[in-house]
Amino acid sequence: MEKTIIIGSGPAGWTAAIYAARASLSPLLIEGAITHENQEKNRLPMGQIALTTEVENFPGFPPGDLSGYLDSAISKSRKNMLPPRVPELTGVSGPELVELIRAQAVYFGTRVISDDIVEVDFSRLPYRLTGATGNIYETQTVIIASGASANYLGLESENRFKNRGVSACAVCDGALPRFRNKPLAVVGGGDAAVEEAEYLTKFTSKVYLIHRRDQLRASKIVAKRAMEHSSIEILWNRIPEEILGNDKDGVTGLLLKSTVGEPVKELAVSGLFVAIGHTPNTEFLKGKLDLTEKGFIARPIPFRTNTSVSGVFTAGDVADDYYRQAISAAGTGCMAALDAERYLASL
Ligand SMILES: Cc1cc2nc3c(=O)[nH]c(=O)nc-3n(C[C@H](O)[C@H](O)[C@H](O)COP(=O)(O)OP(=O)(O)OC[C@H]3O[C@@H](n4cnc5c(N)ncnc54)[C@H](O)[C@@H]3O)c2cc1C
Repeated sequence: MEKTIIIGSGPAGWTAAIYAARASLSPLLIEGAITHENQEKNRLPMGQIALTTEVENFPGFPPGDLSGYLDSAISKSRKNMLPPRVPELTGVSGPELVELIRAQAVYFGTRVISDDIVEVDFSRLPYRLTGATGNIYETQTVIIASGASANYLGLESENRFKNRGVSACAVCDGALPRFRNKPLAVVGGGDAAVEEAEYLTKFTSKVYLIHRRDQLRASKIVAKRAMEHSSIEILWNRIPEEILGNDKDGVTGLLLKSTVGEPVKELAVSGLFVAIGHTPNTEFLKGKLDLTEKGFIARPIPFRTNTSVSGVFTAGDVADDYYRQAISAAGTGCMAALDAERYLASL
């Protein structure tokens, strides 16, 4: 039986593993599996951050030549699995960042298994987790860090331009040079979409907010802010039907379909930010612990990582539909491991 099992291999899971391993809990981390279904859902081992080429906002990684450090910190076999660096990249890439956090967790004794947890039994101790492989894992405590996946529109052209003008996170990518002082678009109509649009106005004076209805879903006060903002223009009753661009420049425009029968309209923009929500990876937890209305793991005690089941803790985006950053995920990973350690000590 394990003392602690960590589910998920993004920044939250690996950081929890570093703390649990250094506290002699000998953690077992279940990293997810590479399957066709997971690929379709952008839910792969190493997490969401591994899907992005540039990470400019993780503390400790200013622009600089990391090559010697990466060679010494990451084993050759793992380094060979990293995607090639984009030539113009000056700091750390997403895959490199999470690989470094993994290396630190493994260095301190974390054991890693490739499997997807498909079922949990928290009704008695030890807790039992069942993997898609059929393996059963028994443990005294669990840290759930299974993350979330950004929802995309599902267009073929969207996939082509991810990391080259299509993004699901303005806070992560808005400050990148490719978006500065260029017209940009956000698609969505909720609070998050308006906040993304407002955030982007720090870097450009023209942001189109594209919404499929004739009024925003955002709360009244947030919607009013968007409508009165001098740099935001709302395009009502429209949906992107194709993202235009080329290999050299990335995104150059959008074709917008009308939801009320108007002709298709072409819009010149250099970036599209998709803000149509996130899906938490909590299918395997339904009915097993408390989830929020949106399906994220509920945390009954403010500023703690406890869930509704004692001995089960949570970290990262799976319990956070608000901050959704690698550093906040890593921070709660640290907290969850400390909470698990203290819980075990109290038993
Ligand atoms: C395109 C993109 C760019 C981004 N850029 C930045 C950026 O520049 N800076 C920044 O701070 N943040 C960025 N983010 C956000 C950041 O990546 C996330 O906030 C962060 O990765 C969340 O970490 P996490 O560990 O909570 O979960 P995730 O990264 O989502 O990882 C969850 C892990 O759990 C695994 N998993 C899921 N279900 C199961 C299961 N049932 N069994 C086993 N394993 C499972 C998955 O395989 C995955 O490895 C970006 C996100 C995206 C999508």
